Order: sequence, then structure tokens, then C-alpha cells
Amino acid sequence: MTELPDRRLLLVHAHPDDESINNGATMARYAAEGVRVTLVTCTLGEHGEVIPPELRHLTGTELGEHRLGELTAAMRELGVEDFRLLGGRGRYEDSGMMGIADNDDPASLWQADVDRAARELVEVILEVRPQVLVTYDPDGGYGHPDHIQAHRIAMRAAELAVDAGWEIPKVYWNRVPRTAADEAFARLQADLPGLPFGKAATVADVPGVVADDRITTVIDGTAHAAAKAAAMRAHATQIEVAEPYFVLSNELAQPLFTTEYYELVRGEPGSRPESDLFAGLTSPEAS
Ligand SMILES: [Zn+2]
Repeated sequence: MTELPDRRLLLVHAHPDDESINNGATMARYAAEGVRVTLVTCTLGEHGEVIPPELRHLTGTELGEHRLGELTAAMRELGVEDFRLLGGRGRYEDSGMMGIADNDDPASLWQADVDRAARELVEVILEVRPQVLVTYDPDGGYGHPDHIQAHRIAMRAAELAVDAGWEIPKVYWNRVPRTAADEAFARLQADLPGLPFGKAATVADVPGVVADDRITTVIDGTAHAAAKAAAMRAHATQIEVAEPYFVLSNELAQPLFTTEYYELVRGEPGSRPESDLFAGLTSPEAS
């Protein structure tokens, strides 16, 4: 049987860049602590809008290939060695924003059979046997079809894995507490004149914002802020960083959160708020 570290974390994301934006500090922290960190990305983001003018000729499969290179560079910055594409390279394609024609492409993740895709993820779960799963909420954080589908696949896989022999003790959704978001945007407004970005986003543009009392877990990523920023910078087609802020292709400045927040939706919390995703797991499952 494969040798596995005592603590194992699985993250499921829709596109390259989502992992660094949402969980970069968390991934860097646990990788540095010797935790087995496994990232499963569902698509290569072939329909993402490209920021640098000199790279705008990249579209479709070519853009996907380029973004795999960006993901590889980002994982190097975070110290994460195990990153995979759901079902293997090219299995599922980016569905584009909700309501566009690409949503109907049979190759798109949006059109994927959730059970079949979940069974592909179960294979990873049985191999890695994670104690913690991190993914999006049912709305995918902000309604992007691939994020919604990644949520469905991850949650279904966690269910199917139980019968297949591995129950993931703790499942989390990515969150941002309303108060922290409001405070960060107030700072952004004050700092905006000195930034290379013309306009600010609003709290409504941030995925997963909820009332503070929904937050069960706060990961202080201060020590890994530089790694997170570097990982985000590696996704150069998608993100422009000016710490502690960044923009996506809409060019609206947003705060770069180095404290990352989670809502525990399955399993027993340690204390509340937890400062560790593995809190309360008194005896790590033997490998
Ligand atoms: Zn995404």
C-alpha cells in the first residue's frame, strides 16, 4: 500500500487560478507542514478572457495548454506537487459564463454527467484518502456553471466514496465573512488612487460572501502571503496582482485575502472558530 502522510487535504476547483485565489495561503501552509495536498482541477479554463494583450491570440485548446503551464508554475510557488485534471487532460472543457452557447457544448463540464464525473473523482479519493475536502458552495460561489458543477461533482464523490471504502471526515466550502469583505473593500477604496487599477469591484463581486456566523474556520495565511501572491501572478493570463489587491479580466480591483475562510458543512468542528482544517481529528486515519 502506498505510503501517505498522516494528514491529507483534497481541493476541487473549476479552472486553473481558482485554487490560488481561494486557497493559495491554505495550500502553501499545509504543503509546508508536510500535509499531502492534492488539487483536482475540472477544466483548463479554455474560455477564460486573457488580460495581457500579447497573449490574447491564445484561445480554446491553445489557451488551455498555456493555462496548464500557469497552473504548474503556481503549484511550484505553493509547494504543491500533486495536481491533476479531473478524468485526465482534455476530459472536460470550460463551459464559459452562464448563458453563453458554450454551455451547450457536449464536451463542456456543464454538460457532464455528474455521477460519471464523480466516479472519476472517487478514484482520486480512494488513492489519497483525504481527511479534508474543500470545494465551493452550491452556487459555485458566484454562479459560474463550472464552479456549480465542480461543487456537485465534489459533493457527490464524497457520498459515493463512502460505499467505495473512504468516508472523508470533514468537508468545507470556500467562504468570505461579510465583515472582513466590507473592511477590505473600505481599505481598497482608500488605497485606490495609488493603485495601477482604475476602478474597484464591490463586495458583490467576491464569491462565497456570507454572514460572519456561518464561518467555522479561519486560516491565517500571513506567513504564506508572498507564496499566494506569487501563485496568483503565475496565472498571468487571468490575474494581475498589486499586493494586497488584484484584478481579473474585468479590471476591477479586489482585495487579495491572505486570511482564508471556510464553512464546515460535514463533520465535527474542533473549536469554533477553528484555525486548522484538521482540527478535532484526534487520531489521523492510518495510511
Ligand atoms: Zn473559475
